Amino acid sequence: MKDKVYIFDTTLRDGEQALASSLSVDQKLRIARQLERLKVDIIEAGFPISSPGDFESVTRIAREIKGPVICGLSRAVEKDIRVCAKAITPAARRRIHTFVGTSPIHRQGLLRKSKEDVLAMISASVKLARRLCADVEFSPMDAGRTEDDYLCTVVELAIRRGAATINIPDTVGYTTPELFAAQIGMLFNRVPNIDKAVISVHCHNDLGMATANSLTAVSHGARQIECAINGLGERAGNTALEEVVMALKVRSDIFKTAVGIDTQEIMRTSRLVREICNMPVQPNKPIVGGNAFAHSSGIHQDGMLKAKKTFEIMTPQSIGLKNSRMNLTSRSGSHMVKSRLIALGYAEKEINLEKFYQRFIELADKKGTVYDDDLVAIMESKSADDMKDAFMLEYLNVSSGRKTVPTATARIIVRGKAFQEAACGDGAVDAATKAIDRIVGFKITIEDFSLTSLTEGREALGKVKIVARSDSGVFTGIGTSTDIVEASALAYMDIVNKIDRLKKFKKRLPSYQ
Ligand SMILES: [Zn+2]
Repeated sequence: MKDKVYIFDTTLRDGEQALASSLSVDQKLRIARQLERLKVDIIEAGFPISSPGDFESVTRIAREIKGPVICGLSRAVEKDIRVCAKAITPAARRRIHTFVGTSPIHRQGLLRKSKEDVLAMISASVKLARRLCADVEFSPMDAGRTEDDYLCTVVELAIRRGAATINIPDTVGYTTPELFAAQIGMLFNRVPNIDKAVISVHCHNDLGMATANSLTAVSHGARQIECAINGLGERAGNTALEEVVMALKVRSDIFKTAVGIDTQEIMRTSRLVREICNMPVQPNKPIVGGNAFAHSSGIHQDGMLKAKKTFEIMTPQSIGLKNSRMNLTSRSGSHMVKSRLIALGYAEKEINLEKFYQRFIELADKKGTVYDDDLVAIMESKSADDMKDAFMLEYLNVSSGRKTVPTATARIIVRGKAFQEAACGDGAVDAATKAIDRIVGFKITIEDFSLTSLTEGREALGKVKIVARSDSGVFTGIGTSTDIVEASALAYMDIVNKIDRLKKFKKRLPSYQ
C-alpha cells in the first residue's frame, strides 16, 4: 500500500474569500456536491463566525454531504470555536480547523501578545476544540516567518493538546521549494511527537511556486495538501487541486504516494467552479485550461496521429475530457486535416486531399483557426462561389442605456435584396441578434459567447466568438470590430451564413463538436 496524501479542498473557504461577490448557500452546496463526487478527503466549507450566511452554508453542507470530512475554520478564540463546532454538528465526519499567527509580525503587530501568551491561546483553543470535536487541525499562520525554535514548541504543544493534523501554511506565498523542504524536514527532525499528527501544507501562489512547494513538502513527509479548484484563493490563489493531484498521479514513480481523487471528475469540477464563481480559467492553465490538451504545431499534430504518447504525458480521458483537441490552422499538415475529415464522417474515397488542402490553407490564412463546420463547408461546396456569404450585414444601429429598452435595427442584403427589421432585447447584443433572426428566419440558440480584446486601449479591437446550435448542428462564428455589439453581430452573421451554406448543400451532415 502506498502512503496516502489527503486532499483538503478549500475552494469554498479560501477560494470563496477571494471572489468579487460571495456565493449563495445553494451555489456553495452545488460545488460541495461536486467535490464529494471528486472524492476529496476534506471539504473546508467556510468560516462560520465570519457571517450568518457562512454559518448557514457550513451547516447545510454538513447536513447534506456524506463522503468527505466537513471542516470549519475558526480563530484560536473560544467563541469562534464554539460557533464552528455548532455549524459542523450535522456532519457524520467533522473537523475544526483553528489557527493563530505565530510569527513576530503577527504576535507583536496583530495580536499584541508575547510568545507565552500565544502558547496559552493555542493550548486552550486546541483543548476546547478537541472537547467539541474528535478531529482537530491546527495552523500556525505565517509559519514561514516564525522562529524555528518557537515553531517547534508550537507544533509540539498543539499535538500534545490533541490536534491530529498540523498545517504549515505559506500564507504570503514567499517560500521556495528548497526553503520549504528544509522547514518541513526541520519539524520532522526536531518535534518529538510529530509522528502523532499528519503534516499538512497550505501554499499560496504569489510567485507561481505553490504547486512546487506543496509537492516538495510531500517528498519530505507531508501527507495533506490544502488546495482549491482552478487554484482559486487569496491574491494569486492557492495551490491548484488539479495540478498537485495529477502531478502525484503522473509522477507516482517519484512521489510513491496515492490519492483518493476520482480524477475523471476534475474537468467537470473545474467547469462548475468556473461558472458558479464567474472566474475564467486561462487557456494555458495546466490540466484544466482550454489548450491543456490542444495541439497546434504541425509536427506535434503529426506525432499525435502516429502515437499519442509522443506529446501527451497524460490522457485527456484521465481528467474527464473526451479527446485531445487539434487546433487546425495553416500550420496543420494535410495528414491531420484528412484525419479530421474522416472523424467527421467522410469516407476516404470522397476526399480529394490535394485540392481540399489547398482550399483549407487559403481559409486558414484568412481566419486563423479552422473549425469543423468550416471543413464541412469546404467539403460540400462545388465551386468558390458556393463559399460566398449569402447574407451581408449592411447596417446595424443599436440603442441601449440605463433607462432605455435595448433596441436594434438591422439591414441585411440577402442575395442582392435588402431587408430591414427591428427588435428589442435583454441587452444590446440580444437585441441585435433578434433583429437578425427576424430577417433570416433560422432558429439559433447561443450556447457560448466569449470576447477577447486583440489590441489595447480605448479603440481596442475585440474578437467575439459565438458557439450556437441550430437544427443543422453546432456552429462557431467569429466577428472582429472595435465595437463589441458589431463584433457580436458579425460573429452571429458568420453562423447564419454557415447554416445557410449547409442548408443549400441539402445533405445530412455528420454531427460534430
Ligand atoms: Zn490561504
